[in-house]
Amino acid sequence: MSNIFSASFSFFRKLALVVIIYHGMSNISVYNHKFGNITISILHHIKYIDIVKLHTTNEVALEREIFLGRFSFSQDLGIDLGTANTLVFVHGKGVVFREPSVVAQNKQTGDIEAVGHSAHNMIGRTPGNISVIRPMKDGVIADYDTTAKMMTYFLKKAMRSRSIFARKPNVMICVPSGITMVEERAVIDATRQAGAKDAFPIAEPFAAAIGAGLPVWEPTGSMIVDVGGGTTEVAVVSLGGIVSSRSVRTAGDNMDEAIIQYIRKKYKLLIGERSAESIKFDIGSAGDSSERGEMDIRGRDLLTGLPKTITITSKEISDSLKDSIDTILKAVKDTLESTPPELAADIMDRGIVLSGGGALLKDLDKVISDETKMPVFINDNPLDSVAIGTGKSLQYIQHFRSHPNVSAHPFTE
Ligand code: ADP
Ligand code: MG
Repeated sequence: MSNIFSASFSFFRKLALVVIIYHGMSNISVYNHKFGNITISILHHIKYIDIVKLHTTNEVALEREIFLGRFSFSQDLGIDLGTANTLVFVHGKGVVFREPSVVAQNKQTGDIEAVGHSAHNMIGRTPGNISVIRPMKDGVIADYDTTAKMMTYFLKKAMRSRSIFARKPNVMICVPSGITMVEERAVIDATRQAGAKDAFPIAEPFAAAIGAGLPVWEPTGSMIVDVGGGTTEVAVVSLGGIVSSRSVRTAGDNMDEAIIQYIRKKYKLLIGERSAESIKFDIGSAGDSSERGEMDIRGRDLLTGLPKTITITSKEISDSLKDSIDTILKAVKDTLESTPPELAADIMDRGIVLSGGGALLKDLDKVISDETKMPVFINDNPLDSVAIGTGKSLQYIQHFRSHPNVSAHPFTE
């Protein structure tokens, strides 16, 4: 029976590879400092074909895992407890939900009023008695109780999406790297209390690398740069462990804040976090070469106190993001500098993979490629990489039991 399965899957894998290479249906975008933006399907260079094969095999393998997981009674969970978004992966189903890591709390009673999307919609719009908190905003747990409550809410919601016959799940959980060992232990305990059979922490860049389909278990160096909300994690992985890494507290949130400060200083206009984020989505860019037009912004005039609209250009926004981008570039270069030469050579061949929501910032791949002179790939669905990685790593639970270095805390600046 299993032979029939594997034979048919290997056939589909080959078919998918052929379809992707010859019909240009690949979603993998590559930026090469020499050739600019290229679609992988038109590449003839053998090493890129190798990478296409890797991604294709990865996708097919994930589909197979999800398919076979339907027949399993365990339905284990993978959780990406991100600084901006929490995602849950159910074995046999894939990513079942994505919600902002936000909690609305009643200041007087301490009751939780809303979690996730509904709490996120309240940001900047709450009455005096309600505060909206992002408990892990800067990559550290600012408020443990709230984090534990949020975790319990997400886990219970995820458990509801499993089959009623499912046993207590094992949970692979990815926590921000800035949290201390004690806090990590506390999150694990909260996960167990919420109904998990057992819970295992996994380092964010390692999960992102697995999710991106990089050959993390092989003696080959792979580099992943995960740009999240609170932190950017850069890591080189090989043979199932992290070889060198950097974590900086400069990522998406920091860019939003830079936009707020820029507009405040230059136009004396105060705008909210959510407006700054949508400016970044619409006209933000990591480099200064791409022209993304202009945008009308509404906010409060600091001089008159009245609402006001101004028009801002993409050039101004990329200027405001320059410091954040430089910090990310430095983290990438520092990690490369501390990578052993053999692995650095592998990375030169295979390129750097970008994941996390920040990977979607226009031209970030181009800027990193120009600076490092290496090809840079954006993973197919960068916001989901870590969650998929936690889900896929469930099958290696024994490895995580015996190799605590995978969940080790990287060097933080
Ligand atoms: P975390 O893992 O820390 O929860 P995510 O990987 O979910 O973070 O990424 C969230 C960050 O990605 C936010 O700062 C968000 O503004 C940013 N982001 C999401 N989409 C885009 C986009 N299209 N352009 C630029 N930034 C984006
Ligand atoms: Mg993340």
